[in-house]
Amino acid sequence: IPNDFQQMIDAHDLLRKFYHHLLVNTKDGQHALEYLLSRGFTIEAIEKFQIGYSLNSWDFVYKFLTKRNFPPDVMERAGLVIKRERDGTYFDRFRDRIMFPILDHKGNTIAFSGRSLGSDEPKYLNSPETAIFNKSKILYNFHQARASIKKTNQIVLFEGFADVIAADRSGVHNGVATMGTSLTDDHIVSIRRSAEAVTICYDGDKAGIEAAYRASQLLHSSGIQVRVAILPDGMDPDDYIRQNGEEKFQNEIISASVTLMNFKLRYLRRGKDLNNEGIRLQYIEEVLKEISQLEKVVERDHYLRQLASEFSLSLDALKQQQKQFFFANK
Ligand code: ATP
Ligand code: MN
Ligand code: MN
Ligand code: MN
Repeated sequence: IPNDFQQMIDAHDLLRKFYHHLLVNTKDGQHALEYLLSRGFTIEAIEKFQIGYSLNSWDFVYKFLTKRNFPPDVMERAGLVIKRERDGTYFDRFRDRIMFPILDHKGNTIAFSGRSLGSDEPKYLNSPETAIFNKSKILYNFHQARASIKKTNQIVLFEGFADVIAADRSGVHNGVATMGTSLTDDHIVSIRRSAEAVTICYDGDKAGIEAAYRASQLLHSSGIQVRVAILPDGMDPDDYIRQNGEEKFQNEIISASVTLMNFKLRYLRRGKDLNNEGIRLQYIEEVLKEISQLEKVVERDHYLRQLASEFSLSLDALKQQQKQFFFANK
């Protein structure tokens, strides 16, 4: 590691500890701690995820790091301070925010995401891309989740910080998150290296469902077994756990996750009035096309029966039609 990179990491590690100290031990951080506790974050989680608070100051970080002999240009390239065009002075990037440290796969702190306390925009402010932080490669919590991922051979994929942390509280220790970007090829490479199966657990809103659909296709085509957890309308995993408890999340969301095919079926029928004959027939045809993509005869048979029974159709007719699609694919 070039000396420069090590300095950037050291600056992040020092700040992670100090932000955390400010949150849990000081009067300046008290309102932030109260905000987190009111949102259901526990002290244990705040410790485990090393959550912190950045002061409402324009130059706290700059002075803190200067005192410890970090050169300003290193701070700037690490994304911790920003240079003013006007006079070349520096100001802190993160002010008055809840700080989530982002660790690389080795456990080095390489970036932060800061959440505003109220409804200030942006809700989350991330470190910029730097020599040590490449957002499209990093999965939040991968480092801590590793042991559990190894043990279960599975990963649970979330959208955000709060989801990973709430899920951890309910016993899901193999959760990671993409932090607002869509899943990239680099993410998929690290996932595939460490687990055979992924449960996608994105938000139950339109954006989350679309993102889950896209992620499910990408993961499946890289040979990963995919299941999808279904959240109630408009809820994210953190909302769900706060409202329904940790046990229900395990039993009714994670354990009740559906196969990729059943997720696709739900996806295809969204917003469709299947009582309308034309729409229903079109839906059935779309489903048959999906079924004909399945590799295994047994799987095709399973979903054909499911379809036949749901719409009271003849299994033979469905099979014949499906075969046409099947051979059209070949
Ligand atoms: P919270 O529960 O704290 O309100 P959330 O995780 O439910 O936040 P979402 O709007 O569902 O927030 O976004 C999912 C994730 O996307 C966030 O956890 C964060 O990593 C990322 N994100 C959201 N908004 C922004 C933003 N303005 N800039 C950068 N990243 C963002
Ligand atoms: Mn979302
Ligand atoms: Mn969310
Ligand atoms: Mn949320």
